[in-house]
Amino acid sequence: MTEARVEHVETLIVGAGPVGMTLHLALAAGGQKSLLLDRRPQEAQQGDPRALALSHGARQLLEQINSWPTRNATPIETIHISQKDGFGRTLINRTDYDLPALGYVVRYRDLAGALAANLAADAVLSEAEILDIVPGDEHVTVALRHAGQLRTIQTRLLIHAEGTPGDDPAVKVSNYEQHAVICEVTPTPGHNKRAWERFTPDGPLALLPLGDEYSIVFTLPPAKADAVMAMDDEAFTAALQTQFGQRMSFAKPGKRSRFPLALRLRDTLVKDNEVWIGNTAQTLHPVSGQGFNLGIRDAWQLAEILLKNGIDREGLDHYAKIRRLDRQGSAFFTDQIVRAFSNDFAPLKLARGLGLLALDLCPAARHFVAKRMIWGARAWP
Ligand SMILES: Cc1cc2nc3c(=O)[nH]c(=O)nc-3n(C[C@H](O)[C@H](O)[C@H](O)COP(=O)(O)OP(=O)(O)OC[C@H]3O[C@@H](n4cnc5c(N)ncnc54)[C@H](O)[C@@H]3O)c2cc1C
Repeated sequence: MTEARVEHVETLIVGAGPVGMTLHLALAAGGQKSLLLDRRPQEAQQGDPRALALSHGARQLLEQINSWPTRNATPIETIHISQKDGFGRTLINRTDYDLPALGYVVRYRDLAGALAANLAADAVLSEAEILDIVPGDEHVTVALRHAGQLRTIQTRLLIHAEGTPGDDPAVKVSNYEQHAVICEVTPTPGHNKRAWERFTPDGPLALLPLGDEYSIVFTLPPAKADAVMAMDDEAFTAALQTQFGQRMSFAKPGKRSRFPLALRLRDTLVKDNEVWIGNTAQTLHPVSGQGFNLGIRDAWQLAEILLKNGIDREGLDHYAKIRRLDRQGSAFFTDQIVRAFSNDFAPLKLARGLGLLALDLCPAARHFVAKRMIWGARAWP
């Protein structure tokens, strides 16, 4: 181990996930340099099993930094929303919005690959372990270990993009007692670019078109998720079929993975010379696919402010202020959906049925939900 020397970097981004990389590339497009740092090797992202539904708005931002994974994105043309064993359903159609698609489904690994392909060779310190962070008046000092060396980096702005936070008193956690079991299955008949959001007493079940397959997000209480993870393929497709109903049949389930679900909201986005963006600022339930779509808006708006103002107190405070409505609105929207729909209480089931029916019959209400999915915060009045 060799001795630490102090290096200086204007902006240091911790976490080279999709949100951290988007920020780095948006800054670079405006001529500002930043350094990314990640604890994992870069190839590790290729093992991430998630598929992400990305909004039309997210596509437009990714295109501006040449990182839209064109060949690996499956368009969503309609979204069917319904509840298991209950009446009421709503259908959202791209033709009502004069758009090529309501959104797109992309594998996490393809999105990460498209972003990483635009990084310069020296843009990321991979496999770096942060040992200490010391805030100061003018800069933040970060001690780390990288490639067997101790290094000290002083930065004017430390941006946290480390993904879902662990225990941290600054983060409020509300546990859903639900786990998402995800995998890919082959549907018959074909998906015809339709996504399904089906609410069940166990939690929402989402089917996202991906290539010729459906990417499934099967949300269940933890004990049922244990059971579903342990099933053989035949029992798994039968369980999926029971939850979804008989409109389609499923075969050839791929490898299953699971994610425990909770709402995690950081109370402050900016503190001295540190900023939090993406999942580390807010981790949401995956229902209606808001997480990365929100994270990319964090990255984009922060980049716009840094490119306009440079690093200054006023700009950072402005960032915290303008992100409030979007993040709180998205957290509220997903939280309310999960809590209202994940139960079998008869009066609520009736109200949900009426709600879905009203959504289908009332274009204004349906457009509000559709616009949230297409544009995010811009859907709010
Ligand atoms: C089942 C499931 C389905 C989802 N579906 C959707 C969807 O359809 N649409 C959508 O928009 N969102 C969806 N999401 C949310 C989406 O995955 C996240 O919002 C998105 O991945 C967040 O990106 P990020 O870059 O903030 O964090 P991450 O993707 O978690 O990346 C964080 C990076 O930081 C690194 N890191 C962590 N700690 C440190 C450290 N101490 N030092 C250095 N580096 C560190 C990690 O190695 C990683 O590379 C889903 C989530 C789940 C669980």
